[in-house]
Amino acid sequence: MSTLRSQFQARIGDLEARAQRIDAHRRALIPADSEEAAQQLQGDEVIEALETTTAAEIAALRVAIARIDAGTYGRCEVCGDDIPERRLAALPLATRCVDHADE
Ligand SMILES: [Zn+2]
Repeated sequence: MSTLRSQFQARIGDLEARAQRIDAHRRALIPADSEEAAQQLQGDEVIEALETTTAAEIAALRVAIARIDAGTYGRCEVCGDDIPERRLAALPLATRCVDHADE
């Protein structure tokens, strides 16, 4: 399980680096005229969506690491049953079994 933990931590490092690049990119984009400003606005939506996804994944990874540390990783947070290995292999950040996945 410690390998999984370090994989999650490495992934967080990657995502944080990506978030910083996104932020730097946004700061570098300063529109010169209104036409560019309109394009900028569209670009911002894409960047914001990317930032949201990145932040959400970092948060999910932190939860997974906390669950590893607490010894509850791989257990459904609703019913407490073990999440099947095949499901965890496909979705390492899953916190619920198949029965409770959509609740
Ligand atoms: Zn469950």
